[in-house]
Amino acid sequence: MNFTVLTLFPEMIEQGIRTSITGRALAQGIITLRTVNIRDFAHDRYGHVDDYPYGGGAGMVMMAPPIYEAWECATAGMEKKPRLVYMTPQGRVFDQETAKAYAKEEDLVILCGHYEGVDERVLEELGAERISIGDYVLTGGELPAMVVIDAVSRMVPGVLSNEESGETESFMNGLLEYPQYTRPDVFMGREVPEILKSGHHANIARWRRDQSLLRTLEVRPDLLETAELDKKDKIFLEKAKNTCFSADEMVN
Ligand code: SAM
Repeated sequence: MNFTVLTLFPEMIEQGIRTSITGRALAQGIITLRTVNIRDFAHDRYGHVDDYPYGGGAGMVMMAPPIYEAWECATAGMEKKPRLVYMTPQGRVFDQETAKAYAKEEDLVILCGHYEGVDERVLEELGAERISIGDYVLTGGELPAMVVIDAVSRMVPGVLSNEESGETESFMNGLLEYPQYTRPDVFMGREVPEILKSGHHANIARWRRDQSLLRTLEVRPDLLETAELDKKDKIFLEKAKNTCFSADEMVN
């Protein structure tokens, strides 16, 4: 899968993505990353890419022509125009389903705004999809773009190894993941749940499922409305709602 990022700060994206799992995927050629510096398409020798907003008000607005030309340069020679995502707090909130959908694309172009944002007309002209990473305002679209690239890359086949498999992770089955433990056995007097050391795979799987249900019930009950739940899950949840026991106590 090929990511192209239109940005005023290519070094931010390059540094962020060329590390860890995405860095390994880049090195293996499973994903590619290209950054296009919007400032290279400035129309004056000072490199101006922003101007005052029509109608007045605070801040500056990124001008349409340099963004349009950066897009044209990025997509030149492509047979099919790729999906363009504009990172904005005014967009639909990014989630795991969107990450999975984007991972099916061959090419994805991401536009990072800055200052007060981007001239509306270039977004309309390019049919940009508006995506937010949450209800808060950041300085620029670079961190959001990195969030999207990271989450999407994890869904591209081959990026995660078998050991790193994303299948049991939070949101993949509509629930939050169960709590994880590793050595040492005892930390500050807190022991690893006995069941995880039992070697009984079926019991461990049930315990994890229950923990997952309980955690979701406590923190994100909204997810339970759409999660796929079987009879055992529903009975467990009913019990959990009616008691103040932890999943650990309920299993035993
Ligand atoms: N004036 C804009 C508004 O009120 O919607 C906010 C502009 S923000 C300071 C500058 C840029 O940061 C935006 O154009 C966008 O690219 C990016 N950005 C900020 N917060 C974001 C968020 N929650 N999700 C995605 N992008 C965001």
